[in-house]
Amino acid sequence: FPTTKEEVLQAVAENDVKFIRTQFTDTMGMIKSWAIPAEDLEGAFENGVMFDGSSIEGFTRIEESDMILMPDPSTFRILPWRPKEGAVARIIGDVYRPNGKPFEGDPRYVLKQAIAKAAEMGYTMNTGPELEFFLFKLDENGQPTTELTDMGGYFDFAPLDKAQDVRRAIDFALEDMGFKLEASHHEVAPSQHEINFRFGDVLSTCDNIVTFKYVVKSIAAHMGYYATFMPKPLYGVNGSGMHSNQSLMMDGKNAFYDASTPDQLSTTAKQYIAGILAHIREFAAITNSTVNSYKRLVPGYEAPIYCTWSASNRSSLIRIPASRGIGTRIELRCPDPACNPYLAFAAMLNAGLDGIKNEMEPPASTDVNIFKLTEEDRAARGIESLPGNLKEAIDLMEASEFVKGVVGDHVFENYIEAKKAQWDDYKAQVHQWEIDTYLSIL
Ligand code: GLU
Ligand code: MG
Ligand code: MG
Repeated sequence: FPTTKEEVLQAVAENDVKFIRTQFTDTMGMIKSWAIPAEDLEGAFENGVMFDGSSIEGFTRIEESDMILMPDPSTFRILPWRPKEGAVARIIGDVYRPNGKPFEGDPRYVLKQAIAKAAEMGYTMNTGPELEFFLFKLDENGQPTTELTDMGGYFDFAPLDKAQDVRRAIDFALEDMGFKLEASHHEVAPSQHEINFRFGDVLSTCDNIVTFKYVVKSIAAHMGYYATFMPKPLYGVNGSGMHSNQSLMMDGKNAFYDASTPDQLSTTAKQYIAGILAHIREFAAITNSTVNSYKRLVPGYEAPIYCTWSASNRSSLIRIPASRGIGTRIELRCPDPACNPYLAFAAMLNAGLDGIKNEMEPPASTDVNIFKLTEEDRAARGIESLPGNLKEAIDLMEASEFVKGVVGDHVFENYIEAKKAQWDDYKAQVHQWEIDTYLSIL
């Protein structure tokens, strides 16, 4: 894949690319995109592309609405599901103000700030996310439903399964877009799937997460299905997580690995874990950003609730996968795929770095099934819970100087305001559960 401007322009000419979809994400993690003719790309590399930021969620007010997107040549990809003649490509960009300063409300900028902080300490971050999603039917008007497309379960093999063809098509499209796939399988719930791709540096992985969701949704739509990354679309079965594997590298070596300790984890790894555990409740509103996110974080569905870590058991918030050496990493299990990945990874990285900087020590690892402990046991071990709903999470975030420092004042204020509005709207609704539970008896 091309990485420089010159290589991109050459790829455009060689592949008959006619349109370039320039894109970035808003504060909520939604892709914002518009197409420019291919012949304007060279100018766009020089001067950027002007757009009106006032209509973008969490961006700017009307009186300061002009924004400039500077395309990042390394993100150029031809969209494989579009025509081969007169092809369409996409390119991700960074947002600037007209005065040439980076726009502090751009989530990619927030992540770049975190990466710079890590670099000052000598670290680079690698991450491998595991995104789960559901594949549902569309109704006769083309609107999404929660109607199942299969009755499969984990690793099931069903030769006549239509959904399997969809996943196969998604796999091919992802590979065309430069993803190195590691596993693609049915998940625990009916109609639920997971596709894992190879880990990489945190910035390109976050770009990949955004791209992944876009590809999965596009291919599903092309084949007459609806793919959703909603964390808990169905009551009573597993929700969809985005387990976030992460490690720090220093001088080409995995800084989480230390062959000389009993668990072969370095002090750095332990401090990083401690930092995440110390701050997770404050930044849960970012990793678990919707009202619906907290319907997933309940007992019984392989999703975490308690702020613990463990080398073995999957009921922990942080699990340490078995691989060591260069593959040493921690897996944070609470994030879900509805989050804004740039903000979420900026928060995770900052929390880990804070643990290292302050030489934090993690609590003892919890190698029992936490769900089997009584409330008293948990209290005695000092085990805290994740926030129980979006409101609790917003309140914790609003009181957090740490999170404010991670995302900056601009994102902090806009994010909290938008999330409060969502919660207030949700809170005032009368839900089906209330009708079912109360109407016939009250
Ligand atoms: N779907 C589960 C979740 O909500 C995770 C299952 C797994 O271990 O992959 O996080
Ligand atoms: Mg899974
Ligand atoms: Mg996992």
